[in-house]
Amino acid sequence: MNIHEYQAKEVLKSYGVKIQEGIVADTPEGALEAAKKLNAETGTSWYVLKAQIHAGGRGKGKVKETDSNGVVLAKSLEDVPEKAKNILGGTLVTIQTGPEGKKVNKILVAQDVYYPGNSEPKEYYLSILLDRATGSNVIMASTEGGVDIEHVAETTPEKIIKEWIDPRIGLQGFQARKVAFKLGLEGNAHKEMVKFITALYRAYDATDSSQFEINPVLKTSDDQILAVDAKVNLDDSALYRQKNLADLRDLEEEDPLEVEAGKSGLNYVKLDGNVGCMVNGAGLAMATMDMIKLVGGEPANFLDVGGGANAQTVEAGFRIILQDPNVKAILINVFGGIVRCDRIANGVVEAYKSIGDINVPIIVRLQGTNAEEGAKIIDESGLKVQSAITLKEAAEKVQAVLAQG
Ligand code: GDP
Ligand code: MN
Repeated sequence: MNIHEYQAKEVLKSYGVKIQEGIVADTPEGALEAAKKLNAETGTSWYVLKAQIHAGGRGKGKVKETDSNGVVLAKSLEDVPEKAKNILGGTLVTIQTGPEGKKVNKILVAQDVYYPGNSEPKEYYLSILLDRATGSNVIMASTEGGVDIEHVAETTPEKIIKEWIDPRIGLQGFQARKVAFKLGLEGNAHKEMVKFITALYRAYDATDSSQFEINPVLKTSDDQILAVDAKVNLDDSALYRQKNLADLRDLEEEDPLEVEAGKSGLNYVKLDGNVGCMVNGAGLAMATMDMIKLVGGEPANFLDVGGGANAQTVEAGFRIILQDPNVKAILINVFGGIVRCDRIANGVVEAYKSIGDINVPIIVRLQGTNAEEGAKIIDESGLKVQSAITLKEAAEKVQAVLAQG
């Protein structure tokens, strides 16, 4: 689960990580109030307005309606409401949102930390993530912060420092010092970076996160180390014991079909293709998606209905797939192991009748226990559903349907 920058910064701060201070607002007037309050609390007279969406690249991103960037500087209180208005309610398009962009409902009004007195600000990159290959956490750091870190990793991988942390032992003091040293820091700045990394790791560990990305981490001229941006990814499987963090979920940021699927206990990921698929088991779902591509289609989704698929789950899956206007065909590929094929076939027929008015061709491939009985039920249902037993047969039918346009 992702959370917003303003929420992530609050979480970090509660673990002792120094942050660029800010106050969230959802109206231009609220933004002005926030700026006044920041002025009183921090003495800042310049303010950074930052669109709060679950995507990065906001600084270079543009609001469709106003052409404003997603991160802008206001050099006076008077400027704040006007600049806030150009972001709030708009659609922000960044390299991470895709061309359709994301609606901005909130902005973070933050203190300007690149203030004139801070003559030599330096931006670093710092992240902590789960490294599944080694079963440990890894800290990644770079002196090339602020800019596109993917580009740095690709063209100059030697500029990414990596330090693996054994999760059973936790971050050792020498490891934090090593990272700070490799970043070229000395004296007070080195000390502050060690504190920063230590607090950051503590926060990462205690929140059951799977990824923290702080880009940029800022070093000011007077050697303060601050988180200017914060991306926090929480491990969904641990949310049951992180109730306070689970409450930070913003459903508006998530795909509505994925939210609906989650309510029915379905494992659904929306994709951009034209063939909807419903499969039991994640591995079979992946293989099915490969097969769709092989016959010239593009999967419209990943949908794993789980081992105990029944008429209700099939119906819920159907409804979700049918809400996607790009879907030109649906392929149901179920292996009858725990659940018998004839029961799934009946589930498909029932779901079809209950939804009614389905104009998309459906191909059902049932294999396993009672496969023949299942195919018979489909074929004799009188509905626009074709059965298949082998994967090859199913693929050919999908291909034929796509060819008809
Ligand atoms: P992102 O583009 O979504 O990653 O958003 P960031 O929070 O990283 O901000 C983008 C850029 O805005 C940063 O790299 C900074 O250059 C700039 N920025 C952020 N905070 C400040 C600030 O306090 N003052 C100024 N002048 N620029 C800032
Ligand atoms: Mn950033």
